[in-house]
Amino acid sequence: MDHIKAAIRTIPDYPKPGIMFRDITTLLGDARAFRAAVDAMIAPHAGTKIDKVAGIEARGFILGGAIAHQLSIGFVPIRKKGKLPFDTIGQSYELEYGTDEVEMHTDAVKPGERVLLVDDLIATGGTAEAAVKLLRRAGAHVEGASFVVDLPELRGVERLRALDVPVAALVAFE
Ligand code: IMP
Repeated sequence: MDHIKAAIRTIPDYPKPGIMFRDITTLLGDARAFRAAVDAMIAPHAGTKIDKVAGIEARGFILGGAIAHQLSIGFVPIRKKGKLPFDTIGQSYELEYGTDEVEMHTDAVKPGERVLLVDDLIATGGTAEAAVKLLRRAGAHVEGASFVVDLPELRGVERLRALDVPVAALVAFE
């Protein structure tokens, strides 16, 4: 995992002073690291039957699209409110200040479908938890979740595991 971690760039004070932004665009631009990350996000769920990948906007689309292609299964976009053109269901979640909402098309998953949730990074786990709730409300089984980066201090992985979702994260930044 060292070369995956080394391919991630850190931008201090972005988007606000005091925040260390973990920027995976450098990883995406590195063919070897990108492929290794995609393979490593799939490997922990190898024994699990998965019907679809659900990716969280926006970097979860890139990683999730590659994973779906690799597994020869479909992809479901989970987007910020107001971006999807067809009928949607939404799930709001708490931010530090205020709330946000993610949405999915009503026909994106069929009841009983087994889904792998994907994003670039898990911090508090609030976004991923909202995505899990959304998928479950649509009748899907969330069989696992994969992230490139975990920020363990913010305990998002524990939050997701408390929902009975098996979680894999490739690298951690303290
Ligand atoms: P959470 O809901 O607190 O777990 O935040 C995770 C969401 O915020 C994910 O969709 C990430 O893409 C985004 N995010 C938070 N911090 C960072 C970061 O340092 N780099 C990239 N994305 C981040």
